[in-house]
Amino acid sequence: MTMTNVPSGKRRRVKVPDVMEILGPIYGPVDRTPRYNAAQELVYTILSQHTSDVNSTRAYDSLMAMFESLDSIAAASPSAIEDAIRQGGLAAQKSVRIKTILNQVKAEVGSYDLSFLAEMPLDEAKAWLKRLPGVGPKTAAIILCFALGMPAMPVDTHVHRVSVRLGLIGRKVSADKAHDILEAKVPPDDVLPFHMYLIWHGRQVCKAQRPRCGECALAWGCPARAGFEKAAGRTKTGAGRPSQRKTKKEASNG
Ligand code: SF4
Repeated sequence: MTMTNVPSGKRRRVKVPDVMEILGPIYGPVDRTPRYNAAQELVYTILSQHTSDVNSTRAYDSLMAMFESLDSIAAASPSAIEDAIRQGGLAAQKSVRIKTILNQVKAEVGSYDLSFLAEMPLDEAKAWLKRLPGVGPKTAAIILCFALGMPAMPVDTHVHRVSVRLGLIGRKVSADKAHDILEAKVPPDDVLPFHMYLIWHGRQVCKAQRPRCGECALAWGCPARAGFEKAAGRTKTGAGRPSQRKTKKEASNG
């Protein structure tokens, strides 16, 4: 991906349609097939909190291998669940949370079938999930978006960082508040691909520490680019490092 993607004649900021139009061909089509049903996705998402995808997948697979069904997990002791999910980190906290949530869902719904959420208005479906312990805006959006195909925007660290840098949300907008703001800007059908494109872009190009602005197809309209390039220039030349700056007196002495 290079600066050759600069749209001709554009001297403006990147907007949501630009993200779709430019990053779509770069990262390709997004698979919309659900990996789990909604209740399984809920368990997986709890396991994925504060750990990597690799660890949460290992923990989920281990949990399902040990108990085989959500009913068995709900009936198990927290310590048995904890043993099964140890690889995912924070196992003591997550085991209690998973057991509590599954029992609450079963008591309220009569099963683990959460497909009724897809019939609700988006705000109501989110509110229903957010009542569950440990379920915040991101977890609720992941379940609704990935498992039920609803236009809920999960905002993780990459989506938040890239959106702020591109000026799609304000610098002071928290990730929790960004869900609703981005959902209002992105057409419903584009929510999942937009989410994935910003994650991939954040991992590969707009990295947290050293964004690769020189390789970024959105650099033409990114308000953060100049600041990063200036900082990179300072680092290269050493300008700004007190030890390498000469005082007026030193300079006049050569
Ligand atoms: S130009 Fe730089 S800061 Fe802006 S989106 Fe691209 S990589 Fe990120």
